[in-house]
Amino acid sequence: MAEGRKKVYFERVALIGLGLIGSSLARAIKRHGLAGEIVGHARSQETRELALGLGFIDRAADSAAAAVKGADLVVIAVPVGVTGAIAQEISPALDPGAIVTDVGSVKGAVVDAVAPHIPDGVHFVPAHPVAGTEESGPEAGFAELFEGRWCILTPPPGTDEAAVARVEALWRAVGSKVDSMDPRHHDMVLAITSHLPHLIAYTIVGTATDLETHLQREVIKFAAGGFRDFTRIAASDPVMWRDVFLANKDAVLEMLGRFDEDLTALQRAIRYGDGAALEEIFKRTRAIRRSIVEAGQA
Ligand code: NAP
Repeated sequence: MAEGRKKVYFERVALIGLGLIGSSLARAIKRHGLAGEIVGHARSQETRELALGLGFIDRAADSAAAAVKGADLVVIAVPVGVTGAIAQEISPALDPGAIVTDVGSVKGAVVDAVAPHIPDGVHFVPAHPVAGTEESGPEAGFAELFEGRWCILTPPPGTDEAAVARVEALWRAVGSKVDSMDPRHHDMVLAITSHLPHLIAYTIVGTATDLETHLQREVIKFAAGGFRDFTRIAASDPVMWRDVFLANKDAVLEMLGRFDEDLTALQRAIRYGDGAALEEIFKRTRAIRRSIVEAGQA
């Protein structure tokens, strides 16, 4: 960390998007004393007033451009699909030397949409905190959300090193571990570790919902048998996930193709009563779970 042991500090943080991730970051920034002031903006007045009432922002701005004036750090925490439009809107209002970062779950599409709007002298450091819950909105946030979780930075080549170090220091200060990678590589990794599992959960819960009414009742009654975990994931925010799949189309389709092949292999083993093949696959996956537990990521 380039800043050494010195605590990272921003005079004014502008936060665009006051939902689960934005409000959690604001709460953590406040708890750790990392900013002089947090100015917040969300699309609806209702959310802005709620955020003020909850106290994780000091001031509300009624436009994204107004929020970023005089800010040394701008955090864009809106659904991935609107990130580019926000960048375009704030572009003329950004202070020279300001750092713009985001929290989007997809990085390639976000970098493509945001980078062209970043003026000379302003630094763009894309980030993805790999932390979340199935809840959304300002009331769902909490300061501890990022503790012990990874935050992945995907700065384009040539990004100002001091700006990258400050964003890294911010995430470390709120309890995260930080790694960096190329945006497209990030999207591949997240397609299999996060996006595909959500797609599968949406599919299973959707399939159950399409069953006859009487069967549906039993599905809910006996949900504990594994289905419950899928319903939790499938309760995730529809707008956020719509945008993730549209923005990470190529990587998700690639992983879906591989998944489809493996599923067909399982289907074949079941059809032909090949217990050895099933057991072999389940042994391998159990070992993966053990290594995740050992890595402290369970
Ligand atoms: P969220 O709880 O639904 O909050 C989204 C916020 O964005 C709301 O405050 C919303 O305002 C605001 N917003 C939406 N469109 C806007 C616009 N055009 N202009 C200004 N504000 C707008 O979502 P979230 O879970 O915090 O997700 C935010 C970002 O974090 C997404 O890019 C997502 O990919 C990423 N992320 C999410 C998770 C997760 O598990 N949830 C994890 C890591 C990263 P209103 O309330 O007024 O509509």
